Amino acid sequence: MKTGILGGTFDPIHFGHLRIAEEARERLQLDRVLFLVANVPPHKTGRPTSPFASRLALVEAAVADHPGFEACAMEADHPGPNYSVDTLARLRRTYPDDSFYFIIGADSFRDLPEWKNYQEIFSLTNLVVVGRPGLEAMDPASGLPVAAQKQFCYSGSPEKWRHTSGNWLFFIEDTGLDISSTRLRAMVAERRSIRYLVPEPVRQLIERDGLYRIQKG
Ligand code: ATP
Ligand code: MG
Repeated sequence: MKTGILGGTFDPIHFGHLRIAEEARERLQLDRVLFLVANVPPHKTGRPTSPFASRLALVEAAVADHPGFEACAMEADHPGPNYSVDTLARLRRTYPDDSFYFIIGADSFRDLPEWKNYQEIFSLTNLVVVGRPGLEAMDPASGLPVAAQKQFCYSGSPEKWRHTSGNWLFFIEDTGLDISSTRLRAMVAERRSIRYLVPEPVRQLIERDGLYRIQKG
């Protein structure tokens, strides 16, 4: 089974997330995409993250109508901090027969060298980098330190690079939806409509539970 993994805080999930998952699924013929909800300890970021359970409920509501999309609560049992490299290793142990495609936006790819043991990620999984509006075109040379660049081999197309482990690094530029959770939280706090930026069931849950009405930074 070819399994895509889209990790995120999803505070809240929006059409930008769903669209990159769909584009990766289609382009790489993935059988499923798991939306891995990050269990962010409250002290980790500058602003307090919404509770894991509310973020998971939003993700579940968002993926319910897509047969190939699933919410993944694997990090719920690991209070964190959770590092992608550890979660990916755990996913490989849980689904030993799957091949993995870790999907990240271009902003996450740019920050990758700051992640724990980031070079190990290339050996654990294929990596799919999807463009995010406002960021330049991507390739290993623009995104990675020289030591890491040297582990990739040009395959004849700038969209596909081979890692020494045999895994692939893909770059996809497609629709590009300029939506971020940060912006959505600010809009809700300002009592503005977020209709057509998130799936309707997500919008309704946010409204029902009064999420994001008080700006927390
Ligand atoms: P925040 O503003 O709180 O950081 P976010 O919108 O960036 O939220 P995250 O949960 O941080 O969402 O992102 C999860 C993953 O999805 C990251 O790899 C990020 O790069 C990617 N991503 C999020 N929004 C988009 C988008 N509009 N286009 C492409 N990639 C995106
Ligand atoms: Mg983000």
